[in-house]
Amino acid sequence: MTTESAEEPDGKPRALRKADRDIVALGIATAAIIMFLGTGASVMPQIVRAWMGVGLGPDRLLVNALLLNIALIIFGWRRYRELTEEIAERCRAEERARILAETDELTGCLNRRSIESATDRLIAEVRAEHSDVAFAIVDLDNFKAVNDLNGHKVGDALLKMTADRLTRLLPPRSLVARLGGDEFACVIPFEKGHAARVDQLVGKVIEQTGRPAEIEGVVAEITVSIGIAASGSEDEGNALDAEVLMHRADIAMYHAKKQGKNCYFWFEEPMESELRLRNELETGIRRGIERGEFVPFYEQQIDLETGDLVGFEMLARWNSPKHGLVSPEVFIPIAEDLGVIGELSEHLIAQALVDASEWDPRLTLSVNISPVQLRDPWFSQKLLKLVVEHGFPPQRLDVEITESCLHENIAVVRSMITSLHNQGVTISLDDFGTGFSSLAQLRSLPFNRLKIDRSFVTELGGEKPDSRIVGAIVSLAEGLGLPITAEGIEDEQILATLAAMGRLKGQGYHYGRPEDAATVRERLRGLGLLCERAGSSEAAPGAGEPATDESEERYSATG
Ligand code: C2E
Ligand code: CA
Ligand code: CA
Repeated sequence: MTTESAEEPDGKPRALRKADRDIVALGIATAAIIMFLGTGASVMPQIVRAWMGVGLGPDRLLVNALLLNIALIIFGWRRYRELTEEIAERCRAEERARILAETDELTGCLNRRSIESATDRLIAEVRAEHSDVAFAIVDLDNFKAVNDLNGHKVGDALLKMTADRLTRLLPPRSLVARLGGDEFACVIPFEKGHAARVDQLVGKVIEQTGRPAEIEGVVAEITVSIGIAASGSEDEGNALDAEVLMHRADIAMYHAKKQGKNCYFWFEEPMESELRLRNELETGIRRGIERGEFVPFYEQQIDLETGDLVGFEMLARWNSPKHGLVSPEVFIPIAEDLGVIGELSEHLIAQALVDASEWDPRLTLSVNISPVQLRDPWFSQKLLKLVVEHGFPPQRLDVEITESCLHENIAVVRSMITSLHNQGVTISLDDFGTGFSSLAQLRSLPFNRLKIDRSFVTELGGEKPDSRIVGAIVSLAEGLGLPITAEGIEDEQILATLAAMGRLKGQGYHYGRPEDAATVRERLRGLGLLCERAGSSEAAPGAGEPATDESEERYSATG
């Protein structure tokens, strides 16, 4: 369709100038008719009289004027017909433009702009029939990956197919819209008090849209997360409007994503405050990174055989002005989602390297690394750069990665481990037993150490202690030639059981809670394990034997 947007040299749009001309033409035609009547009235009797031989011939000037009038009337008539045709064509074009503006080009559904008014109309319509509408936002879970992997053609086809599936599943009078990207809205009328029908329908949507589909020779598998809000959920008689419904459905959909995707939730009030808190945390975290509110804390690591302190695990804390000391279990996942985990981690590690430079050089420093950071191909280079910049001996640094890292991309993890190993950094497999690493992976990746997850170690304590799982993990590690650290040693009983199992390292509240840098410095000063800046790195009495020798601890699968 063409649009008349061009402008004439005088700055007036062409369409306007045409309209101007139409008015002028209409004026000319009207004037011509009036003049025709005037001149006709005097010329016609003259002509008739001349014919009858009674008078002189008509005035030539008046005859010419009459003829000119007739020509002008014909011109005006033609212009009038052209004008009506033009108006009809413009109406058709406007209708086409309206439809285009209201529909999504790719799928032919309604779009974000039009769904709101259409929903409001539907709400008003079904209210008279004692019905409500359910506004559902349907978001494809892994669309980006399918799109990136197979290209936009497959992505577009998948969106069209999803729109078709939704349209076919929904009852008559329902509305389907594409809100943008991989997000759809379905508006479904239902009888008041029969929300279970919507549940059934949405269940079907999840099942049907989740069916693998072959598109251009590629089998695409997609799941959906759905959030629903109902128009009648407020006090009777005061139905919510489309804008509120969309906002609520969006919050419920976000909740479904957080609950692991491929599921649906109805909107509930607390979800909104949760989301508000989450937004607050997100802003707080971004600001906190800029303001240096994230600080390293340290947990002691002990050689269980000798009882000597052998190093510390750095555990991040957020010293938030609003929320106080916040646990990494809260802010690490958010920092991962925000894409700032790399920056945050580097800042913490840099601070930890400064702190650990004051400790006895035999003390190691362990740092936790998120699976998200390992997706960065430059991760090991960035880490090594920090180590070099701080003049920290790489042999004192230990990197803890969790089993979940291994699912992501084992080749990347292997090359990362290799480049860190080449510089002397050691790698521990954290939270061992909670993930799904296979024996083959354990054998093929050159880890230096296994850390048994706290959940297993806890079983060694309490009224009914059970040491079978920890025992099995210890023998497995022995078989693989890997030393072990046990986490979560909370009391003497657990400690005694572990100590009997072999030569392990351990950590836990039994030895104290994680402490900030200043408290650790005081502790080390007391133990004579602090090298005062100027220099001597001699270990003072009381330090005991260093727990492990790096060469003894290093494990090479290839060697
Ligand atoms: P994790 O690596 O398993 O760290 C051990 C967690 O257990 C710490 O919690 C520690 O305070 C706690 N803990 C230690 N001993 C005991 C005990 O005897 N009993 C009990 N019940 N708990 C004990 P925290 O500091 O809250 O850290 C939680 C998790 O956050 C860590 O688990 C780690 O996965 C992650 N994390 C901490 N700092 C960082 C970081 O800088 N980067 C990344 N990516 N993750 C971090
Ligand atoms: Ca850890
Ligand atoms: Ca753990």
